[in-house]
Amino acid sequence: MEKTIKEFKEYLERIRMYQEAVATLSFDGETVAPVGSIEARAKRAGFFGLEIFKLETSDEMGHFLKELAPHIETLDDVLKGEYREAKKAYDEGTKIPAEIVREMSELQEAAAAIWGQARAENDFDKFAPYLKRLIELQKKVISYRSSGENPYDLLLDDYEAGMNMEVYDAFFDKLKEAIVPLLKKIKESNKEIDRSFVNIPVDLASQKAISKLIAEKLGYHLDRGYIAESSHPFCSGSNKYDVRMTTRYLENDFLSSLYSVMHETGHAIYEQNVADEIAQTILGSGASMGIHESQSRLYENYLGRSPQFWEVIQDELLNLLPEALQQISAHQFYEAVNVVAPSLIRVESDELTYNLHIMIRYEIERMLFTEDIDIHDLPEIWNKKYEEYLGITPPTNAQGVLQDIHWSFGAFGYFPTYALGSAYSAQIVAHMKKELDLTALIKAQNFEAIKAWLGEKIHQYGRIYTPNQLMEKSFGEAFNADYYVDYLTQKYSKLYALI
Ligand code: ZN
Repeated sequence: MEKTIKEFKEYLERIRMYQEAVATLSFDGETVAPVGSIEARAKRAGFFGLEIFKLETSDEMGHFLKELAPHIETLDDVLKGEYREAKKAYDEGTKIPAEIVREMSELQEAAAAIWGQARAENDFDKFAPYLKRLIELQKKVISYRSSGENPYDLLLDDYEAGMNMEVYDAFFDKLKEAIVPLLKKIKESNKEIDRSFVNIPVDLASQKAISKLIAEKLGYHLDRGYIAESSHPFCSGSNKYDVRMTTRYLENDFLSSLYSVMHETGHAIYEQNVADEIAQTILGSGASMGIHESQSRLYENYLGRSPQFWEVIQDELLNLLPEALQQISAHQFYEAVNVVAPSLIRVESDELTYNLHIMIRYEIERMLFTEDIDIHDLPEIWNKKYEEYLGITPPTNAQGVLQDIHWSFGAFGYFPTYALGSAYSAQIVAHMKKELDLTALIKAQNFEAIKAWLGEKIHQYGRIYTPNQLMEKSFGEAFNADYYVDYLTQKYSKLYALI
């Protein structure tokens, strides 16, 4: 048995090495690689993807899994986690015929390119046949994997283990019941928050210095990291010793990069804080998309959008900000970064209405996979939901149903993890506050204590546990959306003086 375990771990190490190479190459592709190298890079990515797939689904892997299966209960938690991840990839990879996998990747490639054109030309009909085919093919792929589950349940579980329509329906119903009336009250309050000053230009050199200052202050290690630039901010790590992030600098909106850096810092700290012994294994990353997003949202919203943050950070930013911004008070900054304003574009939305954007996508995806709807009705369905939930109707499909890239690469079931991550963060912070005085720590700029607590409860475990196992282990309870509803209600009722 010991020999099998040793060989299994060595085999997984080979997979991990390819994964690390892919992570580094894709970061390169998103940041500095020349445009002329696109085709060569795509070929290289295809090669490595196939090598990983071959290792994950080989007879050798099948042999390891078969040998380990009867002993699974006696294995330690790390081995159990490695076995779970390896088995998932093996089962999925060996059930789907290779030709379907190839058809799907070709279609994804074509659909993403067509989506870009369709959005630029505001032409949904151009994208519609590709979207239709993506849904059909996704259903076909699922039919090979499923043993009777609803296709959408399986997709939801792919992006967040343990999730399904039943849990998400209850979650979104709860959110809807709280947010829609709250939003109405905010509108009726007629409180105007002046945030015009956020567009005062800040030179890019200063913005870069601010990014570095904030990320380091929060606990990001630049000796194991790097802040680059890309059109969409993201964080990517090959292992805890090399965790990079990107941001985007807009001269007339310095808060955009400031908050995207805080968000990505949350992701990056998670990756940098994984326990050494699993750092270079297939468990060396975050538990799930939802748990990962909980960390980024926690840093961005609970630290960065707290009143205390602006009180302490303002003095340090003074010599990096132009004269006009030095006159703005911490309270004005606090209100400006928390203003509620329903908007058409998800990635520019505020903390409160963000959830409604996600809910709309979830409801539409649910329809696409559980009902027989005509793809050409999508723009109308989309617009009606925006009118109903946010009180605004997109003037064009480019600003409506075509705005997000996710569907063009067949990522159905992904969106809900964004809202879930925010809700997890409320639950995690509620537990944190039982043990730490969060307000005092922010005031004292003791971000190290916050990071250490998160490290102990979440980060160190990497991917050893599923999200549910992790929540139970660290907090003694399953996911509970009530924390998030309470947090949003209290925060915005106070900000808009509704109570
Ligand atoms: Zn994120």
